[in-house]
This record gives sequence, structure tokens and C-alpha cells, in this order.
Amino acid sequence: MNKYTPTILTIAGSDPYGGAGVQVDAKTIHALDGYAFTVTTALTAQNSTGVKALSATSKAMFKMQLESLLDDIYVDAVKIGMLANTEIIEVVVEVIQKYKLKNIVLDTVLVSSSGKMLLEKSAIEVMVEKLFPLVDLITPNLLEINQLLNRNYKGYEEEAKSIGLAFFDLGVKAVLVKGGHSYDTKNATDFLVEKLSLVEKASLVTSYTTPRVKTTHTHGTGCVLSSAIATSLAHGKTLQTSVKCAKDFLYKSMQSASSITFKYVNENEKRKEPLI
Ligand code: PLP
Repeated sequence: MNKYTPTILTIAGSDPYGGAGVQVDAKTIHALDGYAFTVTTALTAQNSTGVKALSATSKAMFKMQLESLLDDIYVDAVKIGMLANTEIIEVVVEVIQKYKLKNIVLDTVLVSSSGKMLLEKSAIEVMVEKLFPLVDLITPNLLEINQLLNRNYKGYEEEAKSIGLAFFDLGVKAVLVKGGHSYDTKNATDFLVEKLSLVEKASLVTSYTTPRVKTTHTHGTGCVLSSAIATSLAHGKTLQTSVKCAKDFLYKSMQSASSITFKYVNENEKRKEPLI
């Protein structure tokens, strides 16, 4: 008899360079024994030096991609990454409700590390208002936390709980406060802040630490982490165990990053390598 393979739907941008977006999500999901369905929110043109251009999928085509899949199959978990614009967010909201999707991890992608806006400014509010209350976990990095909450978080543990509470006020159930951009040069510590009660401001903070990998090849690390968490959730693991497994997977991936050969090196452009 065939063994059951959990299914994970990734809704994200396309990165032809393969370090981020639906491409790396699918690689991650399959490496962790899941089956990936990929629905693309936008095409991008990019390489090791950054994102050059992007073109969002039309609302009708995006909706058709999702409905074609979801009319046909069940998904055990969902990872949401780059959302591009308000229309795309509105379809995601509609589809989550229509198909009663569960185990949803939202990576709050705002800007690429090369400086390209991956979500239109006017759509940020829509993501917060309409999508935050529907997902099980958000995974903002330090820059996204500071932009979304208008804060100056630096990565200290004492701040994690109040960040969690500020996100709970926006309808979030759990937040992984990521420390990849923190002050700490030795370790990368993420804090999982979970809401414990609907009435009181009770929360549980769990920290996850790995040694900091000395590398500039961090493109797509947020995509790997969020799709790995979704895959563990699809396997039936708890949120805390899923974050632990995902963090370990990302650490190992960063340590064993492969090399590729570039055509030429322009002195003004810093070449990077893909993660996995
Ligand atoms: N391109 C796509 C399609 C993405 O989804 C992301 C991040 O989620 C990026 C680019 C940016 O990646 P980074 O900022 O890690 O370079």
C-alpha cells in the first residue's frame, strides 16, 4: 500500500534563480517528505544580484490556479509568501474561507534584500486587516516587525513578548519573531510567541537558537523556514515542534549550501550563491 504523503500548498512568487519563492518552497517541502502544490502570485526576474523586475499574476488567473487545485485535492497545510498586491490578498482571503484551509503559515514578505518592493505599500494594511486573523502563524523578520509595528526591535528576548502582544492586537494567533537580523553576531535566535487565551493577554514564549552561520547567502532563508514549518504541521507535528524541525533544517541547509559558477563577476555587483 502507498504511504500517505502530506500535501502543502505554497502561494508565493516565482524566483527563476531558485533561491526563494515557489521554487525553494517546493524543494524544501519535498526534502521534508511532503508533496508541494505551487500557486504563483507573481513572476520575478532576478539573479544573485537581486530582483530586477516583477509582474503580478492577474486576479482571474491566480484565482483559477487556486480553485483548480482546491476543487480537486485536500491540502494539509499552506505556506503564504510574497503577495504582490491587494487583489492577490483578497483572493487568498476568499479561498481560505471557501475551502476552510488550515495550518496556514504566513511569511510577511515586504521588500527583497536587494530593495525591491514585493508587496505594494497600499496592500500592507489589507494583509494586516484581512489575512492576519485567518492564519495560524506569521513569521516576520526584524525589519518587517519594525515596519509593521512601527518599532525599533533589535532582537532582545525581553522585547519578544510585547511584540507578540502587539501582533495579537492585530488578530494574529502566533508569531515567530525571527532574529536573523538581530544584534547577536554569535547566534540566530527566534522567539515563538503563542496566544494562550482569547480573553486575557496570556502568551507563551519559546526560544530557538542555532549558531549564526557566517555567510552572505541568506537569500530565501525566510521562504525555507516558513515552508518547512508548514510541512511539519502537515505531518501532524505541534507548532513548537514544527518550528524546531524547521529551524534545524534551515541551519543544516545554510551550512551545506552548494556553489554554482557565475558567467562573470562585475566588481560593482556582489555575487551570491543559492542556498540549497
Ligand atoms: N523573490 C521572491 C519570489 C521571494 O518570495 C522573496 C522572498 O520571499 C524574494 C525574492 C526576496 O528574497 P530575499 O530578500 O531573501 O533575497
